[in-house]
Amino acid sequence: MVDRANPRIIPISNAVGAQAAIPVVLQGTHSETSDLRQRHLRDLRISVTDRCNFRCTYCMPKSIFDQNYPYLSQDALLRFEEITRMTKIFTSLGVEKIRLTGGEPLLRKNLESLVAMLAEVRTPSGQKLDLTLTTNGSLLRKKAQLLKNAGLQRITISLDALSDAVFKKMNDVDFAVDDVLDGIEAAKEAGFESIKVNMVVKKGVNEQEILPMAQHFRNSGITLRLIEFMDVGSSNGWNMAEVMPSRDVIKLIDTQFPLQSLEPNYIGEVAQRWRYVDGGGEIGVISSVTQTFCHTCTRARLSTDGHLFLCLFAHQGVDFKSLLRSDKSDLEIANAIMNTWSKRDDHYSEIRGSHTPIANSTGRKVEMSYIGG
Ligand code: SAM
Ligand code: SF4
Ligand code: SF4
Repeated sequence: MVDRANPRIIPISNAVGAQAAIPVVLQGTHSETSDLRQRHLRDLRISVTDRCNFRCTYCMPKSIFDQNYPYLSQDALLRFEEITRMTKIFTSLGVEKIRLTGGEPLLRKNLESLVAMLAEVRTPSGQKLDLTLTTNGSLLRKKAQLLKNAGLQRITISLDALSDAVFKKMNDVDFAVDDVLDGIEAAKEAGFESIKVNMVVKKGVNEQEILPMAQHFRNSGITLRLIEFMDVGSSNGWNMAEVMPSRDVIKLIDTQFPLQSLEPNYIGEVAQRWRYVDGGGEIGVISSVTQTFCHTCTRARLSTDGHLFLCLFAHQGVDFKSLLRSDKSDLEIANAIMNTWSKRDDHYSEIRGSHTPIANSTGRKVEMSYIGG
């Protein structure tokens, strides 16, 4: 009998006569699976480390992420083989896009070997995955060419200001703008298909950097994306008063460099796209706070230690590392993923208040560095 809540899943007991109540995926219909809000699973973000060499005040503030912070031990991390196996299973379920992130992903030793393994994975129709990575750029001069050679197609580099003083205040480890710009240059030289720059805008902190950043990246072939400061985790002291709405960001840039809105490249695209009227290229804004996009959210996140999270603001994940390290088959793991996804109802951004809520019984939401930004 086919499960009514999700007609494409049948209980394993009915399918193969086994006792376990794990549903089995019907072959060839994986990509149709949707959650309770009719959203398909398409993207997977994988956090490869919960550590970082920056202490951005909006992400890993020094006061919390100090030498006593309980980072994961080496053994707790998913191994490259395990990440690749999960990626293959997710791909069989309709995932087409993989983003490696963290923490700072380039701190993970030999990350290029993982990239090479993931670059071999194919979708059921034989296509390559859209394989990308987000980095703070600090190690890119050393790694860019290795990553490109391994099969990484696209790259996003975070940079919040062109002023050294402002950037250092935000990264809180005295890291210089020029070193990130050099990382961006290395990515250009390596020949990535697409390079984007993420800038988190905090009102009263770096809003004066918006125009210099727009000016710098115009006509460069690099897309600048301006992100609203979000209430991720429980430690960044988020307050609505520090959010600069994307519509104000656009208005500001438009006064200097006239803009025209563009259609999304695909349904569920996180950034709203704009182009410079004079042909200077594109920018994007990510309005997670003021113009939510939960209704088209197709993203799952795999934490550094193999827990599956269905929302950036989730309180809890489902432990897949234990399944991977048991004798479960790929099919059983695929079914466990489908089961989890089919019950997904997350739409946090649509219901957030003006202050970070107390999250769960422990009083904490999970940190972005752990589940992957
Ligand atoms: N360390 C890498 C980096 O900074 O690019 C990858 C991980 S980081 C968590 C991924 C992205 O999330 C970065 O572009 C970062 O700026 C963004 N981010 C982190 N905390 C944020 C927050 N509170 N609000 C909005 N964006 C945030
Ligand atoms: Fe590190 Fe990226 Fe978070 Fe900054 S945003 S602390 S670079 S993980
Ligand atoms: Fe997706 Fe959750 Fe963000 Fe909404 S709040 S867009 S469901 S990750």
